[in-house]
Amino acid sequence: MSDIIHYQRATDLEFELDDLSRPLRQQRPEIHWISTPDGDQGSEWCGRCGHFKVRHLQRHDRKRRDSYFLDGGWRTEEDGFRYCCACGVQLDVGLTTYGALEAIESLDHFGIRPGNAEDAADLSEILSTLAWHEPQNAGAVERAADLAEALLWSAT
Ligand SMILES: [Zn+2]
Repeated sequence: MSDIIHYQRATDLEFELDDLSRPLRQQRPEIHWISTPDGDQGSEWCGRCGHFKVRHLQRHDRKRRDSYFLDGGWRTEEDGFRYCCACGVQLDVGLTTYGALEAIESLDHFGIRPGNAEDAADLSEILSTLAWHEPQNAGAVERAADLAEALLWSAT
């Protein structure tokens, strides 16, 4: 199969996955971090939980309260999908190539859920990350496309 057909297949599938998962993706909150006087706290938060956590921290450290704040709120590229450390909601992040390759391993391992919007959203993100990248990712794109077909075919 030529590379052009190969990428066309991935792009077509990404489009279909996007249709299926768009409402879910649009609801995903952006990623946030909490900055403290002692540095970044190292956890990832949705805006809602992060906001309450910052207020909690400020109440318990009134002298330095202005040094606690919620950072982030924009789309980032991560080495894997990210979830709010408090409520567990999946956050709206893009993937690095490494992250996309890891995510395929995980979906392959745990199996695709036919017609599932969350898996569709994850696969769409994986394909959008990999489709235009290096030829060495061709095998991974192929696997992601196979998973996407299994998901979409079962949904119809
Ligand atoms: Zn949350």
